[in-house]
Amino acid sequence: MSEWVLQGLREGVKSTRYPKRAETAAGVSPGLPSDTSCDDPQRARSIAGLCPTDALLASDRTVTVDRGRCIDCYRCARATPAAMRWDLGYEWGSPTDEGLQDSSRRLGSAFGRSLHVRVVDGGDCSACLSEVAQLTGPYYSLHRLGFFITPTPREADALIVVGPVTPAMRPLLRATYDAMPAPKRVIAVGACAISGGIFRSTRDEQEGALGVIPVDVVVPGCPPPPLAIIHALLVTVERAPARAVAQ
Ligand code: SF4
Repeated sequence: MSEWVLQGLREGVKSTRYPKRAETAAGVSPGLPSDTSCDDPQRARSIAGLCPTDALLASDRTVTVDRGRCIDCYRCARATPAAMRWDLGYEWGSPTDEGLQDSSRRLGSAFGRSLHVRVVDGGDCSACLSEVAQLTGPYYSLHRLGFFITPTPREADALIVVGPVTPAMRPLLRATYDAMPAPKRVIAVGACAISGGIFRSTRDEQEGALGVIPVDVVVPGCPPPPLAIIHALLVTVERAPARAVAQ
């Protein structure tokens, strides 16, 4: 028996046990800001004014977060004397209103443990793409959950989109979506794919995937950690409850 088999038997499984168990390893998530109450309205306004992507909205003494716009720059987290609350979780996958309402796009239970996923890079900075690439490595081991990355849209049941979807990528994203057989689901991964992120106010006014194709599930973050993407896939096949994006 080869040495690596013996080593595997000695040391046991090293892959994450999520979703059977919550992942507690250090550094699995950078976190995201959460809605926060302040002492006075002026303080709430000054924290909201720190955000470079208008992800924060001050209303009286409360600052609410639009996580789909947050680029995790930590400005609001470092505000003094009081900062935003920070959520160090990772279960951030959330269905869109459109995805919830259109039942014809629901994947049946047969897809729950056999989902083929096509990934489209809509011009991302490589951050989201590198998190997606980690999914098939030994630690996250996406295949153990019945999810498989496929290179062809004609075999895909779900589409992951990363990046702000640049003008050059819009027709290609649309063509990929059209080539997928129905029923099909779309997951926008990261702030850029959800809202355009930091590229929203650029010359081309990039608005992510939502302005190009129907999107069913979003997972915020810049970039979202692999566990957040796994949660979004579980939400897509209705194996996990969704969380509200704005919380
Ligand atoms: S961490 Fe997010 S919400 Fe806070 S200032 Fe940066 S972009 Fe805005």
